[in-house]
Amino acid sequence: VVEMGQAEHAVITTCAYCGVGCGFKVEMKGQEVVRMVPWKDGKANRGHSCVKGRFAWGYATHKDRMLKPMIRKHISEPWREVSWDEAIQYAASEIRRIQAKHGRDAVGGITSSRCTNEETYLVQKLVRAAFGTNNVDTCARVCHSPTGYGLKTTIGESAGTQTFDSVMHTDVVILMGANPSAAHPVFASRLKRRLREGARLIVIDPRRIELVKTAHINAAYHLPVRPGANTALLTAMAHVIATEGLIDEAFVAERCETPAFEQWRDFVSLQENSPEAMEAETGVPAADLRGAARLYATGGNGSIYYGLGVTEHSQGSTTVMAIANLAMATGNIGKEGTGVNPLRGQNNVQGSCDMGSFPHELPGYRHISDPVVRGEFERDWGVTLQAEPGLRLPNMFDAAVSGSFKGLYCQGEDIVQSDPNTQHVAAALTAMECVIVQDIFLNETAKYAHVFLPGSSFLEKDGTFINAERRISRVRKVMEPMGGLADWEATCALSNALGYPMHYSHPSEIMDEIARLTPTFAGVSFRRIEELGGSVQWPCNDAAPEGTPIMHVGEFVRGKGRFMITKYVPSDERSTRKFPLLLTTGRILSQYNVGAQTRRTPNVVWHDEDMLEIHPHDAEDRGIRAGDMVAVQSRAGETVLRADVTDRVQPGVVYTTFHFPESGANVVTTDSTDWATDCPEYKVTAIQARRVTEP
Ligand code: SF4
Repeated sequence: VVEMGQAEHAVITTCAYCGVGCGFKVEMKGQEVVRMVPWKDGKANRGHSCVKGRFAWGYATHKDRMLKPMIRKHISEPWREVSWDEAIQYAASEIRRIQAKHGRDAVGGITSSRCTNEETYLVQKLVRAAFGTNNVDTCARVCHSPTGYGLKTTIGESAGTQTFDSVMHTDVVILMGANPSAAHPVFASRLKRRLREGARLIVIDPRRIELVKTAHINAAYHLPVRPGANTALLTAMAHVIATEGLIDEAFVAERCETPAFEQWRDFVSLQENSPEAMEAETGVPAADLRGAARLYATGGNGSIYYGLGVTEHSQGSTTVMAIANLAMATGNIGKEGTGVNPLRGQNNVQGSCDMGSFPHELPGYRHISDPVVRGEFERDWGVTLQAEPGLRLPNMFDAAVSGSFKGLYCQGEDIVQSDPNTQHVAAALTAMECVIVQDIFLNETAKYAHVFLPGSSFLEKDGTFINAERRISRVRKVMEPMGGLADWEATCALSNALGYPMHYSHPSEIMDEIARLTPTFAGVSFRRIEELGGSVQWPCNDAAPEGTPIMHVGEFVRGKGRFMITKYVPSDERSTRKFPLLLTTGRILSQYNVGAQTRRTPNVVWHDEDMLEIHPHDAEDRGIRAGDMVAVQSRAGETVLRADVTDRVQPGVVYTTFHFPESGANVVTTDSTDWATDCPEYKVTAIQARRVTEP
């Protein structure tokens, strides 16, 4: 780190890692970054940061950056560097050739949750208007798509309901399937501060995460749920609340649909849903589960924060609805200090979903089949849109393997490393005739690409990100795009080459278009964001010109809240004689997602491999000692990981991270998915483990 005083000027921007969305002051000397300092006026972080964000310019200027467009006719051939114009023309001609031969819907696109809102908006517009298909999806498919389904169904909006600040008014926090100390560190710090003031914490997680220690200090609960049994556990908590007279009857009567509530109450009150009846499934002592349910219902303001340990299950959408049911039943939503909050993993997952990156939804979560909504976009964009939803990401892979899907434009997403069942993803990409990868590094997916377009980092572009509290924050350019074009400019160039004109002189014009077409963003512009101090929480429109810190005040977005039946269906991935252990996955503090950025940021590389956490009993049974290499085999595949023998995991459960491509965690995860959204069941994989070598 360079000493203070060397900087000549500074630019305020937003961290490009996790969904907290911390504001940073990037201090510059000429075109060189001197250092990044957490911005004291950043409303998401208030002057704090974690170690990842502070050193984020390291990857942005890394020697591995790919700065030249490249093409090749076949993936067995070497890359050939070409001009931007040649690469774009080649990509456009391949898209059109494929469509002429295999049909309009033989191509599609994937937006990035690391790119700006303006860029993701343009990619979905490119796919719908220039490709002429709704085959567009986003990496949220494999993380928070069940949040979209579950929250939209129950309360009407696919987003967290409160601000990060609001946790300071919470008395009881349920933290489920999330490990903010590692994945959302600045939020974890704020939560700990509130716990030190006396708030109580209920952790629902198969692992003894770092915050469990804090939970015990505050005499609350750690419910070590068996992977795959989340719905059973929450339904059992609802049973306690319903049968012990803990429902907030006045709230429910005023705010929720009565018939659905009564059906729900009858369902959860069944003895088969009691904590005692569910104990074998959940693995949680019934007394603890009853105590936690009573605490949440009676302990004052209650907030629920959850992560991918909720969504990435075959019942991910059901579990999200079970969370919303609990909040509605206890009146813990729609006021300060209460709410339901998905902790978003990547910096702009919320934004990529808001911007219409799903095959069935236009920007603002409006269904593509609605002729009125479609008409608004058709008039503005000057095209006729398809009324039928397109293919989801896993359906694109399946269609590619079966031969009907042939071309993909993938911006800022490494689907080979991040999606489950790597072998299937690789087979799908190999079967395609044209894969266009746009990224800052030659990632794992680029091994299967025919066109490579250099991506631009967050330091090289203007735009906005949206964090987990719906906060739209400005991203500001501190240096020119190292590859010559910002991502949004490359998308425009491709669209123009395809014959669909896209001309914007600045990303602010793209945001103006988004605002024109999206009611929840109607009051948003770059100027308005500046006037409001650098960020604003949507909805921001005539009804809420200053933005909306707390949602669902007085009335749910859908009108009346809707309770949903959450019948527990066991996962297909269960312990068997052949695969007796359940593998679950997560993150470590020093790495971010697939590690493409943090592995190239020397200041934060504290670990250089993914480890397999295994309980001492399970390790002893298999002759495994700390540091041994262990073969991990599932029905999908096999990989090898180094053992970390620890009681952070319970017997029968093993755990690893997915930050390093060499470890191949997703070689073993299967193609089991959420019933409603096809979100992969990363968090439950039945495996066997055997020692293969000493360290
Ligand atoms: Fe903040 Fe997350 Fe960036 Fe850390 S990684 S500085 S918590 S936005």
